[in-house]
Amino acid sequence: MKPLLQNLAEMTAHRDHLRLEVSVLSTLLQQGRMLEVRALELFTQSGEAWLRPRSWSQDGGELLSSPHEPSADPQAVPLASVPELAQCIAGKGRDAVRDEPGRHTLWLPVWQGDHAHACLEITQAQPFKRRQRDLITGVCMVYQNYQNLLDYSERDALTGLLNRKTFDEQFSRYRNTAGQAPGLDEPCQWLAVMDIDHFKQVNDRFGHLYGDEVLILVANRLRGMFRTEDRVFRFGGEEFVVLLRSTTLAQARVALERLRTAIALHEFPQVGHITVSVGFAATHGGTPVEVLGNADQALYYAKGHGRNQVRFHGDLVDSGALARKVEHDEVELF
Ligand code: GH3
Ligand code: MG
Ligand code: MG
Repeated sequence: MKPLLQNLAEMTAHRDHLRLEVSVLSTLLQQGRMLEVRALELFTQSGEAWLRPRSWSQDGGELLSSPHEPSADPQAVPLASVPELAQCIAGKGRDAVRDEPGRHTLWLPVWQGDHAHACLEITQAQPFKRRQRDLITGVCMVYQNYQNLLDYSERDALTGLLNRKTFDEQFSRYRNTAGQAPGLDEPCQWLAVMDIDHFKQVNDRFGHLYGDEVLILVANRLRGMFRTEDRVFRFGGEEFVVLLRSTTLAQARVALERLRTAIALHEFPQVGHITVSVGFAATHGGTPVEVLGNADQALYYAKGHGRNQVRFHGDLVDSGALARKVEHDEVELF
């Protein structure tokens, strides 16, 4: 058994949320005679809170993680089915316990501000002693603080969306594994670049503070309009990137068109109406730079043909409006 401090040092060496989670489970497993440790993801679906095991120990040893999307995980259960934990989370508590003969379970929600996005669960045969509980709470607090720090470094300060730095990693993680073109109706991943039209005028007419307010409201809108498995980034300035996952081309068109319309119809305080242009491309068969280049070309085309529209790179190539291959040094960045 490794000393606790060494475990904590190893835990905080990770820069990846899932590895960090597995590492905290491994640290916990080494602190006593636990039967099972699990990290449960908390997510919302149709307005209801759900739980699903994301990482867990098997036979008190090997640690495994689930590749499932939260909403598609067959192991997901409503949070209400674990009333002790549901109550603890509702009261912003630190831990909850259930004592059954020969089976004692401790839950520790992982807080990010006033939102719990995950929970550690420890099960053992004997009741938890005060000292053991303090130690587990301590490990959980270190984990929570480090997790929050990691999360902070991945987000844009103004809007709270994921920043440019995290894009490459997320892109590679979720792209189609084989890299070949999927069938026409097969769900796959799409990358959309959205840029606010004539945003400089917003700043010039109303001032930077109102400009910032528009960026925050647009970001909130983006966050609310896409599913949990999609990813929304702010690439700096008034440019946003969305990774649409497990979506057919037809669905991607609908989702992006809905986004464009929602923003065009939104009444921004003082500023009134703004529009956005969107370019999107398939993510298979290209490096992040190439795919971004394709989406940017489609965006540039939208900008040059009236703005306030969504353009798909594949359509523009098929119609001959754009060349098939993009050279790196020709990539147009806004
Ligand atoms: P286009 O339709 O061609 O995209 O025109 P545009 O005016 O939106 O594009 P341009 O790239 O000329 O201007 C972008 C402006 O975005 C310039 C800059 O003042 C503003 N901007 C960039 N970052 C921020 C920010 O964080 N806050 C605010 N308020 N403005 C920003
Ligand atoms: Mg712009
Ligand atoms: Mg721009």
